[in-house]
Amino acid sequence: MVARFMNLLRRSEAAEDPVCHMQVDMKKPGGGTYDYQGKTYYFCGPGCRVAFSKDPEGYLSGKKGMKM
Ligand SMILES: [Zn+2]
Repeated sequence: MVARFMNLLRRSEAAEDPVCHMQVDMKKPGGGTYDYQGKTYYFCGPGCRVAFSKDPEGYLSGKKGMKM
């Protein structure tokens, strides 16, 4: 698990999931992507993408934590 994260980081093609703060492979985001205000966000799973799309500001401002 940790080794896998390190590999993602080393390739520098990982983005942070704004909902759960996991590192997501930008080439194969498990939850797809979501464009918001000209920026593309990547998600580890569909649940995070749905949560973000409902309240992008809440997650980007840090007001909202992970609720799973
Ligand atoms: Zn996530």
